Amino acid sequence: VSASGRLPRWLRRPVPRSNSNHMTSELLDEFNLETVCENAKCPNRMECYSQQTATFMVLGNVCTRPCGFCAVHRGKPELPEADEPARVAEAAARLGLKHVVITSVTRDDLPDGGAEHFYQCVVAVREQTSATTEVLTPDFVHCKPSLERVIEAKPTVFNHNMETVPRLYRRVRGPKSDYRWTLELMRQVKRYDADVATKSGLMLGLGEERGELLEALADLREYDVDFLTLGQYLQPGEKYLPVVRYVPPEEFEEIGEIARSMGFKKVASGPFVRSSYHARDMAQSK
Ligand code: SF4
Ligand code: SF4
Repeated sequence: VSASGRLPRWLRRPVPRSNSNHMTSELLDEFNLETVCENAKCPNRMECYSQQTATFMVLGNVCTRPCGFCAVHRGKPELPEADEPARVAEAAARLGLKHVVITSVTRDDLPDGGAEHFYQCVVAVREQTSATTEVLTPDFVHCKPSLERVIEAKPTVFNHNMETVPRLYRRVRGPKSDYRWTLELMRQVKRYDADVATKSGLMLGLGEERGELLEALADLREYDVDFLTLGQYLQPGEKYLPVVRYVPPEEFEEIGEIARSMGFKKVASGPFVRSSYHARDMAQSK
């Protein structure tokens, strides 16, 4: 059954224009950078920019994975640009950002999955700004040294999204994804550096049952994940996975409460929540 089509009342709200005080497209053009905020026309831009938070997408915009929910282009990506970390840091400084999220497509074509690039970005942002940092990483498919390299950068928060419950994993995240590894990755972060907060998120509305959702949240807690985001899945176009259900705001609140009672230190749960929503609050609550 698909619920795609007309959006329910609570999801109809105007998409804000970018806020020229904080995030000018001219500045991004000048630095030849992309943000997920502008690229995905994220509905939270006003809120995030007013909190001086933005999500930079590094390592290009072509992905090597075929996730059924994501509209990023597939193909053969370009080689990493060695000066990109410095450009991200300078743009973050010029924008006066207080929390900088760094994310990337999945780079299965690179031997280290892009880990060194993440490292350089975090270090450069810390050198040039006083912002807290968050990495929202791909899964580095079972590559512990790559994962460790990113942790060595000491981001304030290490975020990797679980996205959905195990039963739907392959359908949603593709054949290379592995539910157990997602959890293991979280554990490795804490083992390597207990000062780094861990964070994960799921999209609701892909067909998950309440029981399996709560089990997945319990798994995240068992692996000591600190912060959680839960948001509504929205179909980015016809060829992508259909929305099975639009979860009402009250239900998001209820599940958020349950998650808090499970021991997550901070939870953001609501139809518009994305993995970097209220990220500054979470990071700075550590
Ligand atoms: Fe940008 Fe994330 Fe905020 Fe959206 S939720 S505006 S992508 S920082
Ligand atoms: Fe999109 Fe990330 Fe999946 Fe690539 S790995 S298709 S960027 S969600």
